[in-house]
Amino acid sequence: MSECYAVFGQPIQHSKSPRIHTFFAAQTGQNMSYTAQEVAPEHFSDNVQAFFVYGGLGLNCTVPLKELAFAYADSKTPRALRAKAVNTLKYQPDGSILGDNTDGCGLVTDLLDNHKLTLAGRRILLLGAGGASRGIIAPLLEQAPATIVIANRTPDKATQLAAEFQDLGGVSGGGFAELNGQQFDLILNATSASLSGQLPPLPDGVLVAGGVCYDLAYGNQPTAFVHWGLAHGAAHSVDGLGMLIEQAAEAFYLWRGVRPDTAELISVFDSERGRL
Ligand code: NDP
Repeated sequence: MSECYAVFGQPIQHSKSPRIHTFFAAQTGQNMSYTAQEVAPEHFSDNVQAFFVYGGLGLNCTVPLKELAFAYADSKTPRALRAKAVNTLKYQPDGSILGDNTDGCGLVTDLLDNHKLTLAGRRILLLGAGGASRGIIAPLLEQAPATIVIANRTPDKATQLAAEFQDLGGVSGGGFAELNGQQFDLILNATSASLSGQLPPLPDGVLVAGGVCYDLAYGNQPTAFVHWGLAHGAAHSVDGLGMLIEQAAEAFYLWRGVRPDTAELISVFDSERGRL
């Protein structure tokens, strides 16, 4: 019988995770199944408990469940403790549940390995101060950028988030209005604006000529922010599908101890998108 894994979230019907993990399992010869289950926050604990009681070995948790997963886990990896959010739960041999956060690692791997970008010495603008931003700040700071400026619609949230990570490097936070006159090499969109086809209010000139734009959101078509980057002189303007695949690969490795080859799957997805 195959070993069981799943993703919980709400909504979940459009999740690409079952396809990604099924691909990884076939590629690496792992006997496992991976399903998607719609779980409301108020039913999170009951559903997680039932999943593990009935033999499940690992879970991914996505919006809006990452903070609940953090609270649920008996122990956490250092990067999950830093993020205060968990996207991966693993059943341990002693029956306890380990919580990890693979989002930041997924983003950095996609930027460095797949897009061949350098982060050291770069001026990074991070848009948004929600759960995704929380997971990626520490892994970004590990790459020694010149600075990270967090801009958010609710400026206080950006200021508070920056304060949580200031011990790791140069990071500050505020509102979009404060970006006037500033310029960045890399702009990461970690707002959920793209999900409704909207754009954060960015001043002209905020992206250096030939800079990079990266939208954590992804879709079958380029997002509004990817279009914004291309229209504002970006040499490279891409969405977050690579991050999704890389964070999944890291979770798969945590669960199975085998690292899948992500390049093969990225090229499958890219060729499908190219046909649309
Ligand atoms: P949250 O709901 O936790 O945070 C949303 C953020 O977006 C907040 O900072 C919010 O600002 C801001 N925001 C929402 N609407 C707008 C708008 N119209 N204009 C400007 N700012 C806006 O979401 P997450 O952090 O979990 O997710 C953010 C994005 O990252 C999503 O698109 C998600 O799909 C993507 N993501 C991608 C991953 C991947 O693997 N590629 C992994 C994780 C996330 P405020 O605080 O003012 O409300």
